Amino acid sequence: MKTASQAVIRRCAAFYKCSHTVQSKTMPITWETANQRLELAAQLLNNADPAPGSGPFHMGIDLGTADIVVMVLNAAGSPAACFLEWAEVVRDGVVVDFAGAVEIVQRLVGRAQEKLGVEFTGAATSFPPGTEPRLSTYILERVGLEVTGVQDEPTCVANLLELDRTAVVDVGGGTTGTAVVRKGKVVFSGDQPTGGRHISLVIAGHYGISFQEAEERKRRHDQFDILKLARPTLQRMGDIVSGHIKGRRVERIVLTGGTCCLPGVDGVFAEELRLPIQLPCQPLLLTPLAIASLSLQK
Ligand code: ATP
Repeated sequence: MKTASQAVIRRCAAFYKCSHTVQSKTMPITWETANQRLELAAQLLNNADPAPGSGPFHMGIDLGTADIVVMVLNAAGSPAACFLEWAEVVRDGVVVDFAGAVEIVQRLVGRAQEKLGVEFTGAATSFPPGTEPRLSTYILERVGLEVTGVQDEPTCVANLLELDRTAVVDVGGGTTGTAVVRKGKVVFSGDQPTGGRHISLVIAGHYGISFQEAEERKRRHDQFDILKLARPTLQRMGDIVSGHIKGRRVERIVLTGGTCCLPGVDGVFAEELRLPIQLPCQPLLLTPLAIASLSLQK
């Protein structure tokens, strides 16, 4: 495998200057295209095999409560690299381990650079609605990356897809966030604590195992009773979303976020919200795909 110093490093000239207060508008894509890109991203996940490309490339960095994901798209918006590390460096919208976050981002960006043979000078990032965007942008800046776009997580997804009268519901590790979209524009976004972490805590308590073990057991999907144990927490998430969409014209729900990988989550949301539910093929990667897409301009 090539190292960064061995690789022919070309500067990625595609990044335009923008401050972290600038909000990018992404070219919307269809649901089918989104799923194709997600399948490709899943195939590329943590694949470090060199695949030099000429770019321009667009990088997105998702700093979550459960994991950090670096996704790189080519000029056509298709994934070219995707690296994920499970990490607990963010909690309740606060970076609890700044140095740890910087180290992981540096490592993941380095892997993407080695894979593609390019040096990245900028990236887009995100934050849960209602939290401080600078918590994420500071980390990028510390790593030496210019912030090419920043937007709250469900809004990134809402902007990526062609949506109307729809709520994007992002169920991540720590929170459940909603963005209500009307004719392609986000008219409301909100976020409340309760995410996959809370399900893992229930599993840990039920089996008397560590949080880490519970996380792993939950992600393996080989336990029939996980959904049963998770149901009250998922119903609580349904209540949160109900509150977010109350009084707003919402005719369907688009799910995103790693917690939606749990088989049966869409059924629980359908029961709770009594609305049609759309579940992408790789819910864990939809938000990172949307973040990386922030850098693609119309
Ligand atoms: P937040 O959005 O709250 O900041 P995050 O960005 O880290 O958090 P995601 O990466 O979307 O959130 O999702 C992480 C959550 O998804 C974790 O709770 C993790 O356990 C859960 N998760 C990931 N993969 C699976 C899986 N295959 N089955 C069930 N849960 C999963």
